[in-house]
Amino acid sequence: MIASAHCSVAEAPSGAHRAPDDASAVDVGTPDSAANPRLASGDEAGASPDASAPTGTAGPCGALPLCDDFESAAVGGPPSAALWSLSQPDCTGTGTLSVDDSQAHSGKHSLRVDGGGGYCDHVFVANAAVMPALGPAVYGRFFVRVGAALGAGHVTFLAMKDAADKGSDLRMGGQDAILMYNRQSDDATLPNLGPAGVADSVALAPAAWTCVEFHVDETAGTIDTWVDGAEVAGLVENGTPTPDVSSQWLSRGAWKPMLADFRLGWESYSGQTMTLWFDDVALASKRIGCGNG
Ligand code: CA
Repeated sequence: MIASAHCSVAEAPSGAHRAPDDASAVDVGTPDSAANPRLASGDEAGASPDASAPTGTAGPCGALPLCDDFESAAVGGPPSAALWSLSQPDCTGTGTLSVDDSQAHSGKHSLRVDGGGGYCDHVFVANAAVMPALGPAVYGRFFVRVGAALGAGHVTFLAMKDAADKGSDLRMGGQDAILMYNRQSDDATLPNLGPAGVADSVALAPAAWTCVEFHVDETAGTIDTWVDGAEVAGLVENGTPTPDVSSQWLSRGAWKPMLADFRLGWESYSGQTMTLWFDDVALASKRIGCGNG
């Protein structure tokens, strides 16, 4: 019973057969993107991201390598094409996303995601430019607001392609109603999904903004996580196996990720649908904190 990490539903097609760049958004700019309703009215095919331009947007955290408060993007359309592209690897379904003004952590806008219950109903925004320039210290910070509590089934709202693990994803999401990490390549979870491990993590309060921060040290192969500024013991992997928390994660041996992109959205493996919002999303090489955006 302790080994309950595994999802009962055929999860993701493994990364093994994907093209190396499969996780980046292939829809934007392809011939059929203009007819793709999933990114509302954006005409991204005509918006050529300028790789030399600063990737941050104006705002309190605009000096960071990646920072978006979604204020500069029009409501109902896609987020800034200079920062984000649409990502729906392998298949597409009912998932949609757009900039929204019904909820906001900062200003008036946030990114709304309506994720469906099937794997192919997933939808993400992806940034593939910043991660390769970061590291080995990778810090992320985002505010997330879930419309309902995380359920028992496995879901993902943050995915990062690990170039050192066959391009499979390092995922953050939920299972057993708490925040957890999942390693796509072998389905390991952090924490272990037994009662003690679950008790060492936290739930996301529905209909409230929560600040989530993570630190991945690619050299050490470690993970640290803070929710509303407080470290979450069940979401820490410091290289030494901790019973009920990181023993499964570390059982495979050396894990040295090389993160290649950053995706926020929704992907569900056991049927849970979700409307959720993201705001004040940032990546940096040092801890960002919850107070500057
Ligand atoms: Ca905002």
